[in-house]
Amino acid sequence: MENCLFCKIVRGEIPAKIAFEGERVMGFYDINPQAPVHILLIPKEHIPTLLELKDKELRDEIFSSIIEIGDREELKNGFRLVVNVGRDSGCEVFHLHFHILSGRRLNWPPG
Ligand code: AMP
Repeated sequence: MENCLFCKIVRGEIPAKIAFEGERVMGFYDINPQAPVHILLIPKEHIPTLLELKDKELRDEIFSSIIEIGDREELKNGFRLVVNVGRDSGCEVFHLHFHILSGRRLNWPPG
C-alpha cells in the first residue's frame, strides 16, 4: 500500500533493523522499544488488522515464524506476544503486526 509505513519498510524505502526474513513475513526491531528485545513481525503484504487475516497459509507462516523467533537465545527467559486491534487497543499502525517483547520482567496485567 502506497502510504503505509510498514509497506515502506518492506519495500526498503524506510530503514529498519531486520530481525527475521521469511517468504511472506518479516521481522524488524521496534524503533521505540518497550523491552530490551522488541521485534515486530509483519506480513509483507498489506493486511490492515488481525480481523482481515483470512489466508490460512499466511497464518501458518506467521505463527511458525513467531515460534522460531521465540526459540532464540535472546528470548530464552520468555517473551510476550501482543497484537493490538482496533481503537481501544491503542493501535497506531494499520498494517498487521505482532509485538514480540522480551529481555526483562514484564508486568501483568498490562493495564
Ligand atoms: P501499534 O501501537 O500496535 O500500532 O504499534 C506500532 C509500533 O510501530 C510502535 O511500537 C512503534 O514504536 C513502531 N514503529 C513506528 N514506526 C516505526 C519504524 N519506522 N520502525 C520500527 N518500528 C516503528
